[in-house]
Amino acid sequence: MDVIGFNDLVSSESAARRFFLGFCWKNHQRFCPRCRERTLYRVAGGRRRCTRCGYTFHDFSRRFIAASAFDCRQWLWLLKFFELGVPPRDVAAQMRVAYHTVLKAQDLVRRAIVATALDAGVLYRAGLRPGPGGKKTGLEMTDAPVFGIIEVGGVAICDIMADITPEDLLLFKCNFRLRTASVGGVVYTAPYQKYQTLVCCGPALWPARYMRHEDRNLPADASGFWTFVKHRLALVRGLSPGHFPLYLKEWELRYNRREGGLLEAMAKALCGFVPETPAPGG
Ligand SMILES: [Zn+2]
Repeated sequence: MDVIGFNDLVSSESAARRFFLGFCWKNHQRFCPRCRERTLYRVAGGRRRCTRCGYTFHDFSRRFIAASAFDCRQWLWLLKFFELGVPPRDVAAQMRVAYHTVLKAQDLVRRAIVATALDAGVLYRAGLRPGPGGKKTGLEMTDAPVFGIIEVGGVAICDIMADITPEDLLLFKCNFRLRTASVGGVVYTAPYQKYQTLVCCGPALWPARYMRHEDRNLPADASGFWTFVKHRLALVRGLSPGHFPLYLKEWELRYNRREGGLLEAMAKALCGFVPETPAPGG
């Protein structure tokens, strides 16, 4: 979205709200976010109550967008700055809000993007918190999950490889001579099965001082997406394994929307429901 279209949306809170509401209900068909019942009645404050389970909700209840105190216009500005890659400190100054408020909102956007992935459940079971606050899963993510990356016709796909651990990567390297290279703490490999590269980060990949991930000219180095990721990895310092999946999924979306539509895609994700935190061991 260019600034001309954006300007119309931020001209009033009601215009901004209409924009987000468009992503919340298909054909304005409201349903109970808790039990999906469609028979509702109106109660005070523009809210609705479910006739089946009695849950009272407003249009943004249980969605990522409601997890911040931002109004719709502030969310639009946040997304616009995020789209343009403006540093969080500058965003905070421009929006006259606290720095940590901006960080929290950006974290929400990333978690909302992850929630749109078909295999998000695998990440949650690995210990990634689906949304803000919520119960601690009891799992602490020491190493990021392994991702397999393919790029087809300029579209990048980052699949979570539920069956491959970081230890497996080292095994493939040592026993089957799978070549590996690294950017900071992030390790990537030569092609594996249908994937152009496997990617992971975490201490398990660096078990000893002698461990090296320095092979040169891996096929991934010639890929548009991986070049894009390497450039971004160089800009974020000290990316923890627990945050790596959030950033990788953000970059996947950014890359696939590089011709336009990134703000709309992020707004749509923000209007999604926050998934339940899976029970420990579940
Ligand atoms: Zn209900």
